[in-house]
Amino acid sequence: MPLLSLMPTLSTPRALVGALLVAALPLTLAAQAPVSVPREHPAVKSALDAIQRDNAWTLEQQVSICEIPAPPFKEEVRAAEMKRRFEALGLGNVHLDSIGNVIAERKGTGTGPTVAIAGHLDTVFPEGTDVTVKKAGTKLTAPGIGDDCRGLATVLAVARAMQNAKIETPGTILFIANVGEEGPGNLRGMRYLFRKPPMKIDYFISVDGTGLGLTTGAVGSQRYLVQYQGPGGHSYGAFGMANPIHALGRAIAKISEFTVPATPRTTFNVGMVSGGTSVNTISPLGAMEVDMRSESPQELAKLDAQFNAALQTALREENARWPNARDTVSLKLIDMGIRPAAQVNDTSFIALTALAAGKSLGFTAPTGASSTDANYPMSLGIPAITIDGGGVGRGAHSIAESYDDGAEGFKGPQWALLIVSALAGLRGATYQP
Ligand SMILES: [Zn+2]
Repeated sequence: MPLLSLMPTLSTPRALVGALLVAALPLTLAAQAPVSVPREHPAVKSALDAIQRDNAWTLEQQVSICEIPAPPFKEEVRAAEMKRRFEALGLGNVHLDSIGNVIAERKGTGTGPTVAIAGHLDTVFPEGTDVTVKKAGTKLTAPGIGDDCRGLATVLAVARAMQNAKIETPGTILFIANVGEEGPGNLRGMRYLFRKPPMKIDYFISVDGTGLGLTTGAVGSQRYLVQYQGPGGHSYGAFGMANPIHALGRAIAKISEFTVPATPRTTFNVGMVSGGTSVNTISPLGAMEVDMRSESPQELAKLDAQFNAALQTALREENARWPNARDTVSLKLIDMGIRPAAQVNDTSFIALTALAAGKSLGFTAPTGASSTDANYPMSLGIPAITIDGGGVGRGAHSIAESYDDGAEGFKGPQWALLIVSALAGLRGATYQP
């Protein structure tokens, strides 16, 4: 039954907008609507003011966390420091889970929803990378300074401001510093956090990177290492056998002709090729690494099927090319990581709340799909978003990465605090998202 038919007759345009918003929500959440933001709640107001006033504290956190290296799978030292800082803020039940996520709890006063806000500990940078932060005016330069030391600093700033202002929320808030967001980590922090049986998390917010953007959809990705293998031999003496590099070439030629939709955005890339011994050797190996992405789970699955078919056809063709050869080439496909996709949903309760919170602070957050920690809960149907942590970032994933706090960097943590407070059940004024 269409939800709109349940609505009473509406007299004012404003009520109509409200009703339409409610109509866009899943039935279970409709009871909580309309979206409201506790912007004028006295304790929240004082917390927002404190975030602006104590902006230097937030930046100090960002710098000092960044200077603790956290290569993929080596997040422990940074994790221990985040645990210490959560404890120093007086949060409860601060602990590391078995995969290495740091979790701190701020108990709610009642039975409201449990809201988790997280930044990721890991960087893409290998051990030995110089992570000293260079400062010039409001600009900070260091690998990882924005992605995701800004997120971690934001999580700390929100926790501190809520503690100091003694904000009481009906729902419990979990402050999290998680492992494994970047490529090699393959979302292992999230996979563990949302394992079965599930921990109670009703809303999940990842703070990742810089700016004031909102991620409401998950770009799914699928990565493979493809290896064509054969006996190999002398280019002249052993001529007449199937050639792994030729099989690889056939496969790349097919992949390069794939057609994918522009909407939902779907992409493919052969990013690395390897193999070969010398110019006069039939290589025993032809290998490539391939990355495929889509905003749509269906399109990603279609692309994946097309990709697998292309690999098999290339293999068959190369072997058929040399019917009299003693040995054939074989194909090995190694999964390098899968991130689930989830369709963009700007009308979910969590997205509307984030948009309304932005409006209450004077900005309109641009929305889109991305590949972040929120992919995983989104793919499970748990309301999840990723928000930026404010400021202006450049060169993420490069050693020249920089973060400029500008004049309004504090709006990132303020935004996060408002979203968390609203989702944890503090009611307030209605803002048009
Ligand atoms: Zn990140």
